[in-house]
Amino acid sequence: MIFDSGTGIRPLGDWLLSENYRQADLLCSHAHLDHILGFPFFAPVYQDNFFLKVHCGNLLPEHTIREILSAQMSPPTFPITLNQLKANINFTDFQAGQEFVIGDNINVKTQALPHPDRATAYRLTFRGRSICYVTDTEHKINDMNLNLVEFIHDADLLIYDCTYNDENFPAHIGWGHSTWQEGVRLAQAANTKQLAIYHHDPSSKDSMLDDIQKQASKQWSGAFVAREGQSLKL
Ligand SMILES: [Zn+2]
Ligand SMILES: [Zn+2]
Repeated sequence: MIFDSGTGIRPLGDWLLSENYRQADLLCSHAHLDHILGFPFFAPVYQDNFFLKVHCGNLLPEHTIREILSAQMSPPTFPITLNQLKANINFTDFQAGQEFVIGDNINVKTQALPHPDRATAYRLTFRGRSICYVTDTEHKINDMNLNLVEFIHDADLLIYDCTYNDENFPAHIGWGHSTWQEGVRLAQAANTKQLAIYHHDPSSKDSMLDDIQKQASKQWSGAFVAREGQSLKL
């Protein structure tokens, strides 16, 4: 299972092929550029023996994920079109809130998130363990998203939109993002076991992320700053 196709999907694609993986499910939170621009650089889509299922829950009824990825892969912005890809790719648009099953009986629950052009949260459950991927989303100050608390309840891992912090958030109301402090509050209210502080502000330097790590773990031992290439055992 892959969440979104930002720049990280490029090294992931090379790794999947080197490990001989032949199928994957790509679960899209939404189609903003930072979540889809890696797709044309995902090497498995150029392999005829690779099976990819792409799921997206925020585009209907105006658009489909196939249409959006196709627009991205069209000359003159990209020389290879979606129709020229060799992999067997299946595109599914659904309405956030629907529940379905992927892969080896992995249960997928979804929920709509407040974000410009909308976004979808995912909760994946397999053999009694749950991961929640919750980005991009904006919270309201002092008004916790109780639907989301219910959605992420008791999860083993919450991956949450922590673009801002409580200090600079008021200057970014309406931008569709949240803070690491709100992530901690949600994780604690919902009794989740760990919080991955994710969707870093692109202008954050490594030293700033180290600083967030220090502050967050002081506030709650379950919180950590997500890093490129990180692996976790649940
Ligand atoms: Zn977005
Ligand atoms: Zn984003």
